[in-house]
Amino acid sequence: MKRKSTQMVIAVAAVLAMSVAYPNAALAAAPQHHDQVSGFYRLKVGDLEVTALFDGAAVFDPHLLNGTKATMDGVVQALHEDQHLLDGGDTGFVVNTGKQLILVDAGSGTWFGEGALGQALGHLVGSLRSAGYTPEQVDIVLVTHLHPDHVGGLTTQDGKRVFPNADVYVAKEESDFWLSPEIAAKAPNDAQPHFQSAQAIAAPYIKAGKWHRFSGSETIVDGMQLVPLPGHTPGHTGYEFSSKGQKILFWGDIIHAQCVQLQHPEVTAIFDSDPTAAAATRNQLLPKLAREDVVIAGPHMLFPGLGRLHKEGSGYTWAPVAFTDQWVEHAPPLRK
Ligand SMILES: [Zn+2]
Repeated sequence: MKRKSTQMVIAVAAVLAMSVAYPNAALAAAPQHHDQVSGFYRLKVGDLEVTALFDGAAVFDPHLLNGTKATMDGVVQALHEDQHLLDGGDTGFVVNTGKQLILVDAGSGTWFGEGALGQALGHLVGSLRSAGYTPEQVDIVLVTHLHPDHVGGLTTQDGKRVFPNADVYVAKEESDFWLSPEIAAKAPNDAQPHFQSAQAIAAPYIKAGKWHRFSGSETIVDGMQLVPLPGHTPGHTGYEFSSKGQKILFWGDIIHAQCVQLQHPEVTAIFDSDPTAAAATRNQLLPKLAREDVVIAGPHMLFPGLGRLHKEGSGYTWAPVAFTDQWVEHAPPLRK
């Protein structure tokens, strides 16, 4: 009897000790997961299935923007109040027409080095696989321009094609500019890495006969219009797909920093080849998109980079697409 009660005292003491050490043992037992949901997001546009593919997240640097002193002072001031003002990212998109699998922009691949930015970017192929596709299934790649955050994902550092069966399409003006040794030789030092990466990334596709330059009037894909959007780069091009009366425009680098440039479309980025033309293109395009019910796919808008524009004051607001898991034209109304 005495032995039993001694055992009981020890057991009660152990339970008490545990409850002191872990006052919320049941709550603390659920581990944090640290991994994110897979980096893709689907949207139906008519009969097209569009999938946004996360390449990585990054924060834009205010010193990479150019505007009037008053505007830029305002941006710096606003950054003190909202440190997330310049949050952004890099996204590519795949369009499944039912006949062809078309990638629009390919993310950064390994072309941003081993540093923090290089580690943050370059996840597009992983996102593509999570979305149920393989790189071998991609038939066509449409590139908006040849900066490495849009074409780096096409080619490995040792010169291999990541999309071995894909034909790559780029505006003639864009290809001729970045792949010209003569133009590269005259370009300023800080632009040299963009010339070098464009040439190395294009090389294996050119060698395989898979690099195609369009001049603007060709039909590359049924139901897709080429939309010249010059300024950011010489041949910067958008791609507008239409299906069943719905439209989606893949607009490339029309906007780099959405919280600043939608309110101030005149603000440019320091790597715009022709800042005046870039601002003019933006000023022409944004009102048109706000008037029409066009879905926009923007690589540097917050993931998944899909939304519409609304006019507000002298600028615009971004209305992200609503999440839905139903392939219906519109979600049912909340109230009949
Ligand atoms: Zn870009």
